[in-house]
Amino acid sequence: MTDRYAVIGNPIEQSKSPLIHTAFAQVTGQDLAYTKVLSPLGEFAQTVDAFRAAGGRGMNVTAPFKLDAFAYATDLAPSAQLAGAVNALKFEGDKVFAENFDGVGLVRDVVHNLGCPLQGRKVLVMGAGGATRGALLPILMQGPAELVIVNRTVAKAQELAALAQKSQSHNPNAGVPVRGIGYDDLQGESFDVVFNATSASLTAQVPPLPVSAFAPGALAYELAYGKGLTPFLQLAQQAGVTRLADGVGMLAEQAAEAFLWWRGVRPDTRAVIDTLTVPLV
Ligand code: NDP
Repeated sequence: MTDRYAVIGNPIEQSKSPLIHTAFAQVTGQDLAYTKVLSPLGEFAQTVDAFRAAGGRGMNVTAPFKLDAFAYATDLAPSAQLAGAVNALKFEGDKVFAENFDGVGLVRDVVHNLGCPLQGRKVLVMGAGGATRGALLPILMQGPAELVIVNRTVAKAQELAALAQKSQSHNPNAGVPVRGIGYDDLQGESFDVVFNATSASLTAQVPPLPVSAFAPGALAYELAYGKGLTPFLQLAQQAGVTRLADGVGMLAEQAAEAFLWWRGVRPDTRAVIDTLTVPLV
């Protein structure tokens, strides 16, 4: 029998997940159907219950339900615990296993697809929202020289830095220094990898990042995807950065992690990334 999976959100029309997972199923020869589920606000649990009762095996979770999925789960992976949010569910009997693959997808894109190791590098993450929370542990697992979180609301950056320090009990490379700071504190500092994990690009804005934040040869990585050369990537380009990327690879890689978790086979992501890529011009 064809196994059923879906992405749940509100709105959901914009989701690329059905396209991605259907392509993965084709290349791996897996017999599954993947659809979109629009859940009414405030009815996440009932909607997921109904999907499970109809034989659903797993779900991706998108806005605004990542916290509802966290509450719904019976078994939270460390990635989901640290992120405080869930982006993938697996149903087995009464059990609801929960993961957050956003961060691991990001790191896999950077290290594997873009060929940019994080080990020993100075890493700056802009923003202290959900995407940053999910990315902290996977970045720390790579053993960077230092991880700095910079945010408009400095207290949130400091809070996440403290959380990340604590999380290093899960990390074989424990001992990475982590700081949470404001944009004014960046004067005189430079980084090998700069992630824009703010939502500023969604409104064509850019945080007050000094151009000196990019070290020679730096990678500038915009987590938003499909927006071409965002103001952040333009800033990086003006600073002389030639290694620019957006989050399309992160999107494909977090999907591949979920697919592997559900089906036991890792799909190649290249074709999906090529299909969804919008040129950075
Ligand atoms: P959140 O809403 O949780 O967090 C947004 C963060 O951006 C906050 O820290 C906020 O600062 C900061 N911010 C917003 N506007 C500005 C601004 N004008 N100047 C400075 N800082 C600003 O968002 P998410 O963490 O969920 O998402 C962040 C980005 O990551 C989005 O672009 C999203 O599309 C992308 N993303 C990409 C994924 C992918 O697969 N490629 C997956 C998930 C997310 P403050 O705390 O001060 O309000």
